[in-house]
Amino acid sequence: MNTDVNQSRHHQKSEGNKGLFCCLPVVPDRQLEANIDPNRESLIRYIEKKWVNHTVLHYYFIEAPETWQGYESQKQAVRESFTAWKALGIGLEFREVSEGADAEIRIAFESGSSWSYVGRDAIDLVPNTNDRTMNFGWDLTTPYGRDTALHEIGHALGFPHEHQNPNAGIVWDEEAVYSYFGGPPNNWDRDKSFYNIIRKISSAAVQGSQWDKDSIMHYQFPSGVIITPEEYQTQSLIPAAGLSGIDINEVRKFYPERAEPEKLKLEPYLSRLVEINAGEQLDFVIQPPVSRRYAIQTFGDLDTVIVLFEDVNGEPVYLAGDDDSGTNFNSRLEIRLMRDRTYYLRLRLYFAHATGQGAVMLW
Ligand SMILES: [Zn+2]
Repeated sequence: MNTDVNQSRHHQKSEGNKGLFCCLPVVPDRQLEANIDPNRESLIRYIEKKWVNHTVLHYYFIEAPETWQGYESQKQAVRESFTAWKALGIGLEFREVSEGADAEIRIAFESGSSWSYVGRDAIDLVPNTNDRTMNFGWDLTTPYGRDTALHEIGHALGFPHEHQNPNAGIVWDEEAVYSYFGGPPNNWDRDKSFYNIIRKISSAAVQGSQWDKDSIMHYQFPSGVIITPEEYQTQSLIPAAGLSGIDINEVRKFYPERAEPEKLKLEPYLSRLVEINAGEQLDFVIQPPVSRRYAIQTFGDLDTVIVLFEDVNGEPVYLAGDDDSGTNFNSRLEIRLMRDRTYYLRLRLYFAHATGQGAVMLW
């Protein structure tokens, strides 16, 4: 089953991918506190699904059921796509693992539809490690298929659809959208077309005023489904192949590559100031003087996500995380830490009501 002996199914797939599009699972917006400041909400929405930088993302190719298995050529296309994202020079790492329980990203190849959960939704919304978080429904070895693999991995890194960017200024002929995507080969119901195309992403989950029509996160559209910009009333919109310059800048901004960051020591009862800008990250190292239960908490009027990793043979392994964004609470972890072991705390700031008025402490 893992060989390419049976090519007939492949040929079927590659013919079948013409005009097929990524179809994301419908996920509700996370609730923030009422009457939240729009600037604060916009920063939270921009950052909330992203991983903390320097996370090692483990991916796994699902073996069962059989209809979810992929051919080796398909797995190889996915591996190459992870490599292409990494080659941009980013701080995330990608590792293939042989157990689904060890993976944040679990990949199936069930024919028909391609999709992925967006960023951290994969761990927040798919707790069952037998479930997939990404599916590829057509051949990935064609030029279109290679872009599909880059696109779904882009979702897994936390990026939404660019054609849903509220700043894009696209005005849809909504009935034409429902009709086109409702027909073969996609056969989407109206909810799927609305969720993946017509719905504008809330406030500035896609930041910046630019519309990047060449983004890997942008669909192709036939003429006649877009009213504005007017040129697409009579011509189709075909993004350039591969990653766009803006895609590359965005992923480098969220996940900057540094040599192992200069880690600040976080020691019991000594608070550390959080003096960074929205979207930026602080990395701390913790070497507990004694084994016991510890608390780690942020202080002040700020929204943060904090994630704790343990160093296991040189690799940071996720232990726990907390996200206080959009609430009146602070991020807080309580966990037993062992003497003679090394832990990393990564703190990403969403929003601070005033700079330099927040702190993090271990005790
Ligand atoms: Zn997509």
